[in-house]
Amino acid sequence: MARRSVGAGLRPFQPCYTNVVMAISKDLLEILVCPVCKATVELKPDSNGLKCVQCKRVYPVRDDIPVMLVDEARVEE
Ligand SMILES: [Zn+2]
Repeated sequence: MARRSVGAGLRPFQPCYTNVVMAISKDLLEILVCPVCKATVELKPDSNGLKCVQCKRVYPVRDDIPVMLVDEARVEE
């Protein structure tokens, strides 16, 4: 359990970016499937794509909108 290091000193207040990253909801992810093999897709850690668990195609996410097109996907190991 890593404790967040607070560091020393007083920092100015920082805006909270936490919920900006979660633009694609879990509910949406649950209904999205790979158009090729109908398998589940997973959001990549950097939120830049959705990866099919089966064929490893990565579908890009543009403006928080998943582009589930085979032509746009690339295979990633
Ligand atoms: Zn697939």
